[in-house]
Amino acid sequence: MTPTASIELTLKDISAGRTSGSMCSTDLVEAPWDIDTAPGYGPGASTADPIPVSAPRQGEIPVEYRDATVDELRERIVRAKAELGHRVVLLGHHYQRVEVVEHADYIGDSFMLARAAQNHPEAEAIVFCGVHFMAETADLLSTPDQAVILPNLAAGCSMADMADIDQVEDCWEQLSELFGTEPDADGKVPVVPVTYMNSSAAIKGFCGRNGGIVCTSSNAEVVLEWAFERGRRVLFFPDQHLGRNTALGMGIDLAAMPLWNPARPLGGNDEETLLESTVILWQGFCSVHKRFTPAQIAKARTEHPGVRVIVHPECPQETVAAADESGSTAYITKAIAEAAEPATFAIGTEINLVQRLAAEHPQHTIFCLDPVVCPCSTMYRIHPGYIAWVLESLLAGTVVNRISVDPEVAVPARVSLERMLAAKPRI
Ligand code: SF4
Repeated sequence: MTPTASIELTLKDISAGRTSGSMCSTDLVEAPWDIDTAPGYGPGASTADPIPVSAPRQGEIPVEYRDATVDELRERIVRAKAELGHRVVLLGHHYQRVEVVEHADYIGDSFMLARAAQNHPEAEAIVFCGVHFMAETADLLSTPDQAVILPNLAAGCSMADMADIDQVEDCWEQLSELFGTEPDADGKVPVVPVTYMNSSAAIKGFCGRNGGIVCTSSNAEVVLEWAFERGRRVLFFPDQHLGRNTALGMGIDLAAMPLWNPARPLGGNDEETLLESTVILWQGFCSVHKRFTPAQIAKARTEHPGVRVIVHPECPQETVAAADESGSTAYITKAIAEAAEPATFAIGTEINLVQRLAAEHPQHTIFCLDPVVCPCSTMYRIHPGYIAWVLESLLAGTVVNRISVDPEVAVPARVSLERMLAAKPRI
């Protein structure tokens, strides 16, 4: 990996005025232990999207890890991993920085990493360099003897936090009163809950208990087909954009997709609208992907005639409509790897992945649609210092930052995940 692929260096260069460009917040050049203590600091490098006060804060790790240089940390991680051998598997999400994914045994999206965790029953520990819901999912799919470790407990996901289990239970109660709970003459239930992988284990458990299923951005259409075979309509959470974009792609009318605002009775809808609905969309979103706009796409097309624009389906509907293609991180990665001739790509997803793809494919011109460098700040909280700390703790016989899902939640959550794992992703 070339140093230019490092978002870490890019942020530092912008902050120091060594290169042109801008970023959402210069706070990100600080170490995550400093960001952690900033009140309400949310995703997308934005303090305007605060994480809930109840979200865990990691706090300080020993000073030897905070003060070490990236090179020193790299050496310590490599040494600890070599000593641990098969005892540990390190998973890295696509949105992690280079300084993290260079140590990963697997790099991928949440779906691929969930499978990787399941395929390593011999490892005592699974170190998940991603966000909280991903570590929970790995815990659900691993054996009880395995410890799933999230290097920084403050690495959450604001989208996942937008669907709280109490709000979802309340919504379900209101819908059950309105629709009833009995199947119709075709044997279809009134509503099937579908949750995006980016949700808490509690929400996955809710789906397992109520005939529902989990989806990822790779298999959302396949999962919605599964749901419509069993129900008249779908309750989709937490990401309204993935739900809307997927349903539109299946030919479902936008008018049949009311938005559910959990703060209002009937989600802010009248009964007739809900009775005529096909997909009820929870009012959640990703603060990183909502930044991509049709205006950015128009600018890219003007400045780079012939550019191929690919955006993630967590982007708003009008952005997906203006792009040439939309797809998961696996889709984007594959599309670029398979392009035979040198081409120009404008990508609408998290900057770490875009910058890494640009470094890995120098024959292409690859850039991020958003001119402002704005990493997912919660993903960014995984820093090599935390990885060195958790690995060296393992070597010393101590498991730190273990993520364990309560068995009462885990059993139904596994049901909804196993339904999803049986669905083949389309990439
Ligand atoms: S990129 Fe968006 S959906 Fe993914 S972890 Fe960050 S806030 Fe959550």
